[in-house]
Amino acid sequence: MKQDQEFFADGMLVEVLTTQPVDRLFTYKAPSAGCFKGAIVLVPFGKRIVMGLVWGASTEKIEPKKIKTIDSILEHRPIQPELQNFIRRVADYTVSPLYSVFRLVTRVRDIAAQETHKRLLFRGKVPSQFKMTSARARVLESFDQSDGTGLSISELAKLAKVSPSVINAMIPSGCLISKMQPKDLPYAAVDTTHSKRPLSEDQARVVSELSKVLDQNAHSSILLCGVTGSGKTAVYLEAIAKVIDGGLQALVLLPEIALTGEFTERLKARFGVYPAEWHSGISQSERRRVWKMVGRGQAQIVVGARSALFLPFESLGLIVVDEEHDSSYKQQDGVLYNARDMAVLRASLANAKVILASATPSLETWNNAKSGKYKRFNLTKRYGSSVLPDIEIIDMRNEELRSDQWISPTLKTKIDVAINNSEQVLLFLNRRGYAPVTLCRSCGERIGCDFCDTAMIEHRFQKRLMCHQCGETKAMPITCPNCKVMGNFAPIGPGVERLAEEAAKTFPEASITVLSSDLYKSARSLKDELERISRGNSDIIIGTQLIAKGHNFPDLTVVGVVDPDLGLQGSDLRAAERTFQLIRQVSGRAGRSDKKGAAYLQTYQPLHPVIKAISEGQDEQFWIAEAEGRASAKMPPYGRLVGILISAQKSEDAFELGLQLAKSAKILNSAGITLYGPAPAPITRVRGRYRVRLLLKADKGTSMQSTVKSWVSRVNLKNDVRLTIDVDPQSFL
Ligand code: ADP
Ligand code: ZN
Repeated sequence: MKQDQEFFADGMLVEVLTTQPVDRLFTYKAPSAGCFKGAIVLVPFGKRIVMGLVWGASTEKIEPKKIKTIDSILEHRPIQPELQNFIRRVADYTVSPLYSVFRLVTRVRDIAAQETHKRLLFRGKVPSQFKMTSARARVLESFDQSDGTGLSISELAKLAKVSPSVINAMIPSGCLISKMQPKDLPYAAVDTTHSKRPLSEDQARVVSELSKVLDQNAHSSILLCGVTGSGKTAVYLEAIAKVIDGGLQALVLLPEIALTGEFTERLKARFGVYPAEWHSGISQSERRRVWKMVGRGQAQIVVGARSALFLPFESLGLIVVDEEHDSSYKQQDGVLYNARDMAVLRASLANAKVILASATPSLETWNNAKSGKYKRFNLTKRYGSSVLPDIEIIDMRNEELRSDQWISPTLKTKIDVAINNSEQVLLFLNRRGYAPVTLCRSCGERIGCDFCDTAMIEHRFQKRLMCHQCGETKAMPITCPNCKVMGNFAPIGPGVERLAEEAAKTFPEASITVLSSDLYKSARSLKDELERISRGNSDIIIGTQLIAKGHNFPDLTVVGVVDPDLGLQGSDLRAAERTFQLIRQVSGRAGRSDKKGAAYLQTYQPLHPVIKAISEGQDEQFWIAEAEGRASAKMPPYGRLVGILISAQKSEDAFELGLQLAKSAKILNSAGITLYGPAPAPITRVRGRYRVRLLLKADKGTSMQSTVKSWVSRVNLKNDVRLTIDVDPQSFL
């Protein structure tokens, strides 16, 4: 909801939050024209001019002569009070300084810039003497894909797959005009009636219940829980339509940029226009355009990565978090926020709605729905004629396999049948590279990273060894670094590349594609590959978890989960939950069109509760059991955790700080917080830095942040020592 902001006249004292790394507000005089609370401004700071946000009236007692005046106003439209509150609340929740959250709001270069660029526009008609060729027709058709603001020659050449000379030759004919256009133009208006698809009975029921919630003028959080292929997207697109009809804006968060391409096409099909996009793959000038237009209400739908949560919406009405359980919503550096949780917070501050969509919700969300905090709507059937795949267990204890083979005879038979029927097969293995470990046969030495305490992983396509912690690569050594014996290395265990090698031998006639994040340089190249596969240009797809996230392959009927036990081995709090989600999602890739599909789990533990829950379709029972386990251990979401990570060049320095903190654990204990540690982190060294962990635990009702903040503020960090506070940690490594 758009709100009016307080105004400060010439010379009034205001507090300004700057982007500078000092954890406090500074007082300035309002400029001669005055300024609104929430305005983005430039202020003198020492000898420099820096960006700031007018936070509110200042009550500081400083000598007036010492107070500097705001230099200029960068963006006249003030940000909404809900966003300012959001900045403060995110900072408090994550125990981060305000400026670091403010930086997330202003991640645009040159906010005030008014650039123009040359654009070609189509007049809509071709002159009678115009000679039409197939290349020229493609050029004209490409304008359908633009939002009406025109295209550059290079964009047009790429879309139409023609050379720029073809386009240049069309300009004199008069059907294309070339114009200087401002870069920051409004996004084309959404047409909510563009192509309303008929909904299934199941979908229509949920849409009508959702509508009632959307009609209420109050914040609401909704879990949209629907089995894979049930058509959750179509349901929340109707919610978006309703919000837009009400004059408000909608934000959709996706867990993976590679999915935005497919998703924006679906939005275009429904609403006639492409949405604004916000993620690391867009250009600086497009970022600025999104940022400005969002603030003016001239971008009605934004699709983005987690950082889109910090955009200055004029009137936000709905946030959708797709695949809400996905762990990539947790930011892993800087401000360690969980975008799913912060989406709920922002929606509540903006008096907006939030829809969390998933086939396999996180236990946190499942529990919030159970306790009545969130409303829950279910889609239990697949859309149209497609049905959920059968899930079968292959008991690996009864299969005959050599130690360097991973495709069991039973799975092989299923794959043969599918390929003979011209159907596609997906083999899922959540391990990038060729083999997770490389050993020297002579001495048993494991090749490790020089900078981390981890194994180097062989990537045979790139002919390199790679560290999955720090990204360092090196060539396969010629002699063993330990015993100096030459060329006697053995790969141990499978990665997707090794599985592909086995598949090529086992199914020599089949065409095989490997999908793994390290094999695609850009979201674009991955999108092209996914489209190629959707058209049926691959018999066997071998992939990591990249493949679990929402791609539709209509001909895919067999999913083989090569090693479902893999995720169950860890001691991670969420090992069972994550494995359940991943296998359920991957299995759900099978049988998405009218051909029925099946998923096969090759397990050595057929009686494991996770494996049983998946194969028997007992999702609700799984969550209930998982909830009981967590509740009895008072683990999240039935207890609270904060992780502390200390790192330093020397392990003594990291330990010293950890011990110092432990000594003042009293203030924690009196606030009801238990301290564990310090202890060496499970991965003790990353990028050459030694790591020590502490873990804080408290009951669900305890607010830990302010205590933790004052506890850590008692110690001084020596030069090279770093301390990170991770509220609601997802990773304990
Ligand atoms: P989910 O996200 O729940 O796994 P999707 O939204 O991807 O499911 O829908 C599954 C498939 O069904 C997609 O191919 C989608 O285009 C199709 N679909 C869903 N709802 C409709 C509808 N109302 N009309 C036509 N096709 C639909
Ligand atoms: Zn490394």
